[in-house]
Amino acid sequence: MGECPVCAAEVEVAKDAISGELLVCEDCGAELELIKTDPAELAEAPSAEEDWGQ
Ligand SMILES: [Zn+2]
Repeated sequence: MGECPVCAAEVEVAKDAISGELLVCEDCGAELELIKTDPAELAEAPSAEEDWGQ
């Protein structure tokens, strides 16, 4: 489990998740990036969608 940095809800992190993996908080819908594993640490993901066209 990780903690959502936006709403502090628990976010399920797969046991085999790797850092850099993107998750979505089911509570607030925020896109989160797994920045560290064991223990899991989550950060708000940058809004990558805006960069896709470049
Ligand atoms: Zn959240």
